[in-house]
Amino acid sequence: MRQYRTLVRRTWICVQCRANSSVASPNVLRASSKPKSGLPSEPARTRFAPSPTGYLHLGSLRTALFNYLLAKRTGGQFLLRIEDTDQKRTIPGAEERLYEDLQWAGLQWDEGPNVGGPYGPYRQSERTALYQSHANDLIASGHAYRCFCSVERLDALNRQRNQAGLPLGYDRACFDISAEESAERAAKGEPFVVRLKADQYPMFDDLVYGKTGQNRTGKKQLELIDRVYDDPILLKSDGHPTYHLANVVDDHHMKITHVIRGTEWMASTPLHVALYNAFQWTPPQFGHVPLLVDRNGQKLSKRNADIDISIFRDRDGIIPDALVNFAALLGWSHTHKSDVFTLAELENIFNLKITKGNATVVFDKLWFLQKAHAQRCAAEGGPAFESLVERTTKVAEQKWPQEQL
Ligand code: GLU
Repeated sequence: MRQYRTLVRRTWICVQCRANSSVASPNVLRASSKPKSGLPSEPARTRFAPSPTGYLHLGSLRTALFNYLLAKRTGGQFLLRIEDTDQKRTIPGAEERLYEDLQWAGLQWDEGPNVGGPYGPYRQSERTALYQSHANDLIASGHAYRCFCSVERLDALNRQRNQAGLPLGYDRACFDISAEESAERAAKGEPFVVRLKADQYPMFDDLVYGKTGQNRTGKKQLELIDRVYDDPILLKSDGHPTYHLANVVDDHHMKITHVIRGTEWMASTPLHVALYNAFQWTPPQFGHVPLLVDRNGQKLSKRNADIDISIFRDRDGIIPDALVNFAALLGWSHTHKSDVFTLAELENIFNLKITKGNATVVFDKLWFLQKAHAQRCAAEGGPAFESLVERTTKVAEQKWPQEQL
């Protein structure tokens, strides 16, 4: 801002000319190119990228919903991608449950597992060769290197540094191995990981939080004798990618324009931008949505209701319209008189006016919405109402003894 004021003082340009002038600050041009509604002017391609290490919960339903709504509102596409790179933590059956739960909520994907699409496969475990070839490209361009260090060496290095009170990290010992020797050792079957040579973690313009990051270097200690680096691992010794590599490669190849995800991923975004830069690709726009907290400001966890959404459905008889409406209001603000929206209505009014502060989850609101949607459904009648009566009866029968019913 200060820089911009200086620029204005030195070279005054009228507002209209400023929009067309190459002298104007890039921030001003970028801001003026954003339509006022907070929506992109082009159709957005968004994605929901869950790992099948758990089920759909309130937080992930909201992430899926915001991505879905942004795509629908702009006439774009909503993709589903299964990020199953962590095979050890994969829960059998979780993928199928994710499909069922998303479909129950009405969030049908345009491209993804079961429906296909031009940029598949949409399950990361089926794309390993693509990640390996991109890791090799980065090695060839000097942005990544093979690291043959054993786990024992890395542990010893970190133990020493810990005892000396120094920051932990990697000393880049393998960076100095020549390209020929590195290729030869790999060809002979010596185990290795591929690390990104991370010299810079750039700042990025977040759709919700604005300029974000610290423009920090990957170097943790400047003295020559004691350098350590982040140099994160891109490809593991079993040949499988880490989340960062697979996520960036896929978002690029699947032509994702907007990544809406929880703030817990915000710390990884500068690394992702560094990766886009290394590949010389244009990054998508990132928008991080605020944390969900309870009335005491505590992050929602399994204990205080960030539970599998099937519990709301099967235990409480919550209907999809009510839960989707509830999730939409968690961090998104609108100027309409009423808070009651169907999914179809949300598709027409959604925008990126997302709040920065934590979103407090108050379940009274869910019950208010449940009542409003149930009343609407009853007034409309038909099969949707019959199914509501059937489901409500089932829930009621589980809760109360027959004579009381
Ligand atoms: N697989 C990550 C997750 O489980 C995706 C994060 C992202 O959207 O980039 O949430």
